[in-house]
Amino acid sequence: MAHEVPPLPYDYAALEPFIDTQTMHLHHDGHHAAYVKNLNTALEKHPDLQSRPAIDLLRNINSIPEDIRTAVRNNGGGHVNHTMFWEIMKSKGGGEPHGHIADALKSAFGSFDTLKQKFNEAGAKHFGSGWVWVVSKGKQLEIITTANQDSPYMHGYYPVFGNDVWEHAYYLKYQNRRPEYLQAWWNVINWEAVTKRLEEASRMNRAA
Ligand code: MN
Repeated sequence: MAHEVPPLPYDYAALEPFIDTQTMHLHHDGHHAAYVKNLNTALEKHPDLQSRPAIDLLRNINSIPEDIRTAVRNNGGGHVNHTMFWEIMKSKGGGEPHGHIADALKSAFGSFDTLKQKFNEAGAKHFGSGWVWVVSKGKQLEIITTANQDSPYMHGYYPVFGNDVWEHAYYLKYQNRRPEYLQAWWNVINWEAVTKRLEEASRMNRAA
């Protein structure tokens, strides 16, 4: 069973004016689709791996056969990162988080404003292509960045949420103003979806 691009859970224009329609088309139908196609092509060389979930391949990246390891890291990472990304955004999102996620962020970073500031700073300072994340390992949340399409799963982290700082994610609308994009992105975050991911992270920590 080949990997597939999940359909966007909303319209391409849903995240306007913060993320423009054209960027959403190129990003989802172009970039994400290419990662999936390249992942499937790589796995044709090792059919025994074709039925494994992409997250599972990333968690065990060092046991992936060497001839396809880099392809799985880049394209499996690209697939899993973007699948999360579409899921944790929505139209008319943003605002202050409430409940479980608000408590967890406050306990880790002091306040929601501090978290936003540190997350935006880490994303702005990250050199070149990559992602900025809030991840969990054990009970504690922390901010990390990864290069290219490297996934937090490769490092034993659970990605609670993350923002894409590749130029393809913002250049049409924001050009070289990455900090402006990072700031605007908080208007589309889907806190309900992030809360579900945090709960999933807690379940996994209890199981570990
Ligand atoms: Mn991207």
